[in-house]
Amino acid sequence: MSRFLRTHLARAQFYKSFRGAQLSELPMVDKPVMLANFAAFNTHGIPLDRALDIALAAERSRNFLPTIDGLTVGLSSGTSGTRGVFLVSPAERERWAGVILARVLTPASLRRLFNPFALPLSVSFFLRANSNLYESLGRRRLGFVFHDLTLPMDAHVRALNRRPPDVLVAPPTVLRQLADAVLGGTLQIVPQQVVSVAEVLEADDRLLIENAFRVPLQEIYQATEGFLGASCPAGRVHLNEELIHVEPEWLDAEQRRFRPVVTDFSRTTQLIVRYRLDDVLIDAGSPCACGRVTRSLEAVEGRADDVLWAARLGDGCDMPVFPDVVRRSMAQADAVMRDYRIEQHGDEWHVRLDAESDAALAVRRELEGLCRTLHVQAPRLVFNEWRAASALEKRRRIRCVIRRSGAAA
Ligand SMILES: [Zn+2]
Repeated sequence: MSRFLRTHLARAQFYKSFRGAQLSELPMVDKPVMLANFAAFNTHGIPLDRALDIALAAERSRNFLPTIDGLTVGLSSGTSGTRGVFLVSPAERERWAGVILARVLTPASLRRLFNPFALPLSVSFFLRANSNLYESLGRRRLGFVFHDLTLPMDAHVRALNRRPPDVLVAPPTVLRQLADAVLGGTLQIVPQQVVSVAEVLEADDRLLIENAFRVPLQEIYQATEGFLGASCPAGRVHLNEELIHVEPEWLDAEQRRFRPVVTDFSRTTQLIVRYRLDDVLIDAGSPCACGRVTRSLEAVEGRADDVLWAARLGDGCDMPVFPDVVRRSMAQADAVMRDYRIEQHGDEWHVRLDAESDAALAVRRELEGLCRTLHVQAPRLVFNEWRAASALEKRRRIRCVIRRSGAAA
């Protein structure tokens, strides 16, 4: 960290005047600040419009090879709002590939990778947008197959049956569809590792996926801002504190939930310094059984705008209703519910259920019960018809679209 601050920081225009500064003296930044000053945050001075042009053209043609000044340009699979853009150098790309393999592959998979007499390790990767960042994982000992989520699911099932992967990597919504195909008998694969990426992993998805594939589900916590964490052999997600420094910005008095403020002292192209992420993480609160000293998480709860808000009884103060407690209530409401969405629009929560017709009653009972427990005013619940999402959409079950008007903070 000291070397990064001493030698790399001032090479980006934004930090010119901070040469020799301590971390705590540097400004906190976030995605809007970074995008508004994009050229000043990378050490090559590449402006946002040039990087975006290249990344969008690559995504349109679904040819993910182009680079800019020898740097890889990537786009995050944004949900609503602004998409993230990242720049990485060849060296950073190689290290990213190495770190992710070291962190994710089990000893058995690693032995296979390095045994010249064994078949190459085959990895199937489902993502909304590929990037040559991911292609750099493909090597002679590693058969790397990218599955394009713009294609229909039965095409993927056929491709997987033709070339069964040893390691399957996908967002939980996709893993869930593949798990259904395994349980239904149309998909016959026996991966040794199954890894969840790119979306919040919820308990019901985990259960179904582990049941179908009969291996513990691993998690990678990765964002535009880098490779932030991965699950350990004991099953907890650890922050990648060997390569990033994380300052927790606590959201509750008990210091359990926090927004991470990340400084990546291993990246020297696009600087990530005291960068506040939109995510809400839950600290595990105790040392992990695996023995690693890095901070471990109980869960990656979601994004800051996955938090719903309600008026406290008595004074009307705006109180957060965190997504994991809403998820727990929804799980209690109905065992046969296949899927749901909850969106806050001011004083109303709009609920969509993919479930039997009487599920709405149980959901109303659970959500109103939850509000009583939290001592907040129950919102007006509006039930809308279920609408299936496309595979290209990132699933966000719980989302605050519009906060309550005139709410006291
Ligand atoms: Zn651990």
